[in-house]
This record gives sequence, structure tokens and C-alpha cells, in this order.
Amino acid sequence: MTLPTPILNELRAAIGGDAIATDPATLTAYAYDGTWAEQRPAVVLHPTTTAQVSAILRLADRERIPIVPRGAATGLAGGAVPVAGSICLNLARMNRILSISAPDSVVMTQPGVITAALQKAVETQGLFYPPDPASLHMCTIGGNVSTNAGGPRCLKYGVTGDYVLGLEVVLPGGRVMRTGGRTIKNVSGYNLTQLIVGSEGTLGVVTEMTLQLIPRPIAQATALAAFAKLPEACEAVGRILASGITPLVTELMDHEVMRAIADLQQSRGQPPAFSLEAAALLLVAVDGDKNAVECDIEVIADVLRQSGATSVQRARSPEEAEVLWEIRRSVSPAVIRLGNSRFGEDIVVPRGQIPQMVALVKQIAQKYDLTIAVFGHIGDGNLHPNIICDRRDAEMMKRVEAASHAIFDAAIELGGAISGEHGIGLLKTGYVPKSVDPIALEMMRQVKKLFDPNNIMNPGKKLGVRGAVTW
Ligand SMILES: Cc1cc2nc3c(=O)[nH]c(=O)nc-3n(C[C@H](O)[C@H](O)[C@H](O)COP(=O)(O)OP(=O)(O)OC[C@H]3O[C@@H](n4cnc5c(N)ncnc54)[C@H](O)[C@@H]3O)c2cc1C
Repeated sequence: MTLPTPILNELRAAIGGDAIATDPATLTAYAYDGTWAEQRPAVVLHPTTTAQVSAILRLADRERIPIVPRGAATGLAGGAVPVAGSICLNLARMNRILSISAPDSVVMTQPGVITAALQKAVETQGLFYPPDPASLHMCTIGGNVSTNAGGPRCLKYGVTGDYVLGLEVVLPGGRVMRTGGRTIKNVSGYNLTQLIVGSEGTLGVVTEMTLQLIPRPIAQATALAAFAKLPEACEAVGRILASGITPLVTELMDHEVMRAIADLQQSRGQPPAFSLEAAALLLVAVDGDKNAVECDIEVIADVLRQSGATSVQRARSPEEAEVLWEIRRSVSPAVIRLGNSRFGEDIVVPRGQIPQMVALVKQIAQKYDLTIAVFGHIGDGNLHPNIICDRRDAEMMKRVEAASHAIFDAAIELGGAISGEHGIGLLKTGYVPKSVDPIALEMMRQVKKLFDPNNIMNPGKKLGVRGAVTW
């Protein structure tokens, strides 16, 4: 489905001929994100300025053309997957860091900057931007703000939203709204900044961000613990926190994940980094002052041993730390090799419920005769059970769907939610009414109507306003 020629001409006039694509190859290339959902847009636009985004949204609102903003499309909920007949608004060319201020500890940036590049840029000035989604070398800062991305370091430093001080947002109809500013405190009016954070492109297009920075920690210490029993690994995190230390990361990897990593390492000709006799691994790191991290990691190593760890490997050099971190970084590419496909979940439960939630996931795997590899940021209560599957096998996919729903139900039952950091996107909209209080959901739908009365912004995503697609 293409757009009428007069509209394409108007778009060309607004943003320039080289910033608009309608050829089948480009439309296909922009039909995906990090999930298996796919839909070709009617047109792909590559704006470079806020004024261009404003002109596009004015036209789209007038003509009722859906807009699907897109960062790097690494999203794991289908949020950036176009809807039929839509404009795919690719923000990757708005990729300038506008200013870094050491005295104010803020960075102002456009949305298309890659997260790792932003981190590197601020670090050259002794500053630190902590949120670190595992996709940080691919994803954009605009995508992170729009999904309120998390990552391993969230246990100590919080999520993306905790660093967003101010935004420039283009609203449907083309008006440009500024929220917040560059101060740490600000209670003037309602907090619209945090309303936009995590709204997955359903309220407007984020065209500029002011992000808070903190001083760069000097040192880091890392350890990898192996456990003979999975529940012991889960319970160890609570004991570390009870010792008075807040680690930088506490990353769980179960036996299925370990098996996948070992297999990947073998295929790369790398020596085994751990023994497969263990049932689970826990990667723990601390950061801060040099003496303090040495002391903290020793305390943590003791706690891990007392919690049942059969071995605790301490990195004694940056090179050894890199080997341990590489284990965690290879989780995604390794797990994907366990089958023809995988369905990656992102549930979150109160921290104390992690042992129970992991046990329930394992029971669900048995009940539906599926392999479910479990890893996650367990200090945050955030688990990523990955259901290994073959999309060509219809009978298996029915079991995958049932298992996925059982995992959602279990998380809700334990006081948690169906997404901790990946978002709702397209794939989980059908489950939102189960996960959100009905009155709160009604208020959210009113907010959506207020911002976007013609429902052009990423329709059908997040709240399932137009047709709830779960699968
Ligand atoms: C290997 C891998 C590891 C990952 N690890 C993590 C992790 O540790 N933590 C985590 O939270 N996520 C993780 N993710 C998921 C994903 O990387 C994050 O959700 C990320 O924030 C998406 O950024 P993006 O630029 O790719 O956004 P996209 O996927 O392009 O978009 C995501 C959503 O934001 C909207 N959007 C994008 N830009 C804008 C904008 N400027 N204005 C308005 N709306 C916008 C889109 O419409 C969409 O709804 C991982 C993904 C992969 C593939």
C-alpha cells in the first residue's frame, strides 16, 4: 500500500527527495525490529531536523496517516514494526550530540545517537551516563528514552528515565513541546517528561533530550560464582544486599544459558570459561573507589560461598574481568543458537519473589515440554525467560503461546508485571488489561486521546487502542 502522489510530493517538498524512500527493498528493510513481527510501511522518511519532523506530523495528522517512529529497531516488543499504510519515521539521521556541560552534569542530544557513542563522548569529560542496555552498541538514545530501557547496571544506577531531565517532543499536528529542563529538581506542573519516557512513540516524537550525568566511577571489580542449585543462585542476591553493599550488576544465567554459551565458545575455538557441572552462574560486579571495590568484592565473594556457591572466580585484572563480562555479553547470540527461533520474555517481579518466579518458569517449561533458558538482571527482579521454538512447527507454537501466557500470569500473580524494560509494543498489548488496574488503564487511554486525538502515533501499540494483537 502506497501513499497518494500529491502527499508524497508534499513530503518531498518538506524534507527533500533523498530523505524519502518508497522502493520495495527499502520498505522491506524497514519492516522489522528485533522480534519476528513484520509489516512493510507505505513510506520510509529520514528527517534530520525538528522542523522536518513537525512538518511530517502536521501532514500525517491532517491526512490521518499512521506514524511509526524508529530508532535502531533493536526493540524486543514490536514497537518499531510499522503498521499497514504507515510512515516509518526513521530518526537515525538525527544523530548529533548537541552539548555536554560538566558544570551542569548534563548532555543534550538528538535521538538518533547510538547509546554507546553517547557514553563514550561523556566519559572523555570524566562524566558517566549509566543506563546500559545490552544492545548499547546498536540501539539509539531516543529508543532508550521511548522504552525506558534498563540494563545490567540498573540495580545500582536505575533506568533510562532516572536520567531524563528534559525533552523536546513533536506532537501530532506538528506542535513542538518542551518539558522539564536541565535542573535535577523541577516540580512546576505535571511531570510530562516522565509521561513521555517509556511511551513507545504513542504520544509524540522525541527530537531532543537533556540527560543527567554523574561522576565517572574510578574502579570496578568483578566475580563469577557457580552454583550447584539454581535456587541458591537466586537467593544469593538478597543476601548480598543484606550485607549492605549494592552491587553494580547481579546477572543470573541458568544451565540452558550456560550450555548455549559453552557451545558458542566451542564453535569460536575459545577455551571453556566455566564448568558445565554447575546449575547456574551469577555474575556480580561492584564499582566506585579503588579500595572500596576490592573490599566489597571480597565481602560479596564470602556471601556467595556462604550461599552455596561451589566456586567464585575473581577477576584479578581488566583482562580477566573482560573474560567474565564476555560470558554475559554472549548470552543473546548464544541462546538464539539453541533452536530455530526463540520467544524472549521480559517479566519483572518484586525482588524477593525471584526464586519463586524462576521455579515457576521451570515448572511451566516441564508442563509444556519446552526448553526455556532463563537469564536476567535478578537484583531488579527482571527475568528474561527465552522460550526456544521452531516457528515452522504449528503444534509447538501453540505450546509456546500457552507457556508464554502462563509466565505472564505467574508474574502478575506474584505482584509483578509483563514487561520490565522491553516495553509492550505490538506483541503484548493483549495482556495489558490483565497487568494494569482498569481505572488506571482508562486514564491512560484518555491521556492517549488528549495527545493524539486522531490516533496516528504508533496506533495499536502499548495500550492496544486499535485491535489488540498478542501473537
Ligand atoms: C541483543 C539485544 C539486547 C537487548 N538488551 C536490552 C537490555 O539490556 N535492556 C533493555 O531495556 N532493552 C534491551 N534490548 C531491547 C532494545 O534494545 C531496547 O528496547 C532499546 O531501547 C530500543 O532502542 P532502539 O533505538 O532500537 O529503538 P526501536 O526499537 O527503534 O524503537 C523502540 C520503541 O521506541 C519508539 N521510538 C524510537 N525512537 C523514538 C523517538 N525518537 N520518539 C518517539 N518514539 C521513538 C519506537 O516507535 C518503538 O516503539 C535488547 C535488544 C537486543 C536485540
